[in-house]
Amino acid sequence: MALPSVRLYNTFTRGLVELRPLEAGLVKIYSCGPTVYRFAHVGNLRTFMLPDLLCRSLEYLGYRTQQVMNITDVGHLTDDMFDRGEDKMLVAARLERKSSEEIAASYTKAFMDDAARLNIRRASSYPRATEYIPQMIELIGRLIEGGHAYEAGGSVYYDIASFPTYGKLSRNSTDKLLAGGEVDPNKHGPGDFTLWKAAGEHREQVWPSPWGPGFPGWHIECSAMSMSNLGERFDIHTGGADNLFPHHEAEIAQSEGVTGHRVVSLWMHGGLLMLAGTRMAKSAGNFFRITELEEQGFDPLAFRYLALQAKYRTKLNFSTEGLAGADRALRQLRERARDWAAQPPGDREGAFEAWDARFKAALANDLNLPGGMALIAELTRAEVPPAVKAGLLRSWDRVLGLDLDRRAPDRALPDGAARLLEAREKARAAKDFATSDRLRDELAALGVQVVDTVDGQRWTVSSRK
Ligand code: AMP
Ligand code: ZN
Repeated sequence: MALPSVRLYNTFTRGLVELRPLEAGLVKIYSCGPTVYRFAHVGNLRTFMLPDLLCRSLEYLGYRTQQVMNITDVGHLTDDMFDRGEDKMLVAARLERKSSEEIAASYTKAFMDDAARLNIRRASSYPRATEYIPQMIELIGRLIEGGHAYEAGGSVYYDIASFPTYGKLSRNSTDKLLAGGEVDPNKHGPGDFTLWKAAGEHREQVWPSPWGPGFPGWHIECSAMSMSNLGERFDIHTGGADNLFPHHEAEIAQSEGVTGHRVVSLWMHGGLLMLAGTRMAKSAGNFFRITELEEQGFDPLAFRYLALQAKYRTKLNFSTEGLAGADRALRQLRERARDWAAQPPGDREGAFEAWDARFKAALANDLNLPGGMALIAELTRAEVPPAVKAGLLRSWDRVLGLDLDRRAPDRALPDGAARLLEAREKARAAKDFATSDRLRDELAALGVQVVDTVDGQRWTVSSRK
């Protein structure tokens, strides 16, 4: 059976392209993964939701996927950090009085746990940078041989002048490419980036190499791990919008510099999560962990719901009010799903296929999940047998991952709510909608969400007031 055509936005060409897997029916995906020296924040997790949604969508459409996500357990060093002599893994190790291996192991576990809270499915494999040092050294050697890199003072640098299309992915002008980095007298050009850094004072996370003891730059890690695991050509590379430059620009220069041909067919970048107008960032300290949101009483999947309502490529403003709205909507949807599922099954055919085709069309249109969510709202209002609605939600949840069949825990009504509900029922019967709206707001303030159905009002109690 022919697989449906899927169009995805390719950052490289800044346009929608049709996905054409190199191996029929199998889509090979490499995703930049976490740097494991600190906890992930929900911005990071939004970026990791992209390959999850991609794989789930492609599988829903009948494709198979192989997704590799790396774990950066060494350095995460940009040129600036080299120059400041600061290695985040080692700083964390010193502050927490642990070895870098212990730091990496504990934050890798925390990352896996946090991802699981968001129903981010596990990748096919998680290569760790420290296990790929020989492959990185080999790539660097080949780059030197090919005239793309040079050694100076025990460090190796990529010579960006040797790769004429450097800057094409990020569409950066030459002056932007060159600006920013601190001056390093070993570099031939200011925009050259480090492939291998001489150990200098460092004692930990140092490996022998043909250029003396040292450690790899961050960018070379991803060239080595992607090509070692997926081959010298693969279908899709994902990352956050902030990875575009310099990380992915450098990766293209390295991988294509070695192989002499295009390695990645399609580049996908997730939009940043913002908090009060600025990017959520570890370094700026303006971030939330998913566990913190959970402690505040939110269902972690409310964050997933929130993210699904925005196009994956757009910036998304995070606020606790927005999250509270998503939390309410998710609980309400689960309640509806439960009610529909309780109805006797009718004739499933026809309506199911037509609605499911629309959901699939949304997925195939550059993962239009907000479109999928809008379809749910439309379905809710539609004249469709409840059992069919229940079946559709169950099926779509394979992509959405919202645990729509989860039973809400029964929560007792807060004090005073029963009286307000009774008064509201009476107001509705008397068609006094002004009063019924006011009472709905009063109930919401108590943490009781009321929905009006043909059978009368229904309510759910959230964990917050
Ligand atoms: P790190 O662990 O710092 O390497 O970050 C992991 C991923 O999170 C990277 O792919 C970043 O692009 C992404 N990222 C960092 N900050 C944000 C943000 N505010 N919103 C979305 N993604 C982000
Ligand atoms: Zn990467």
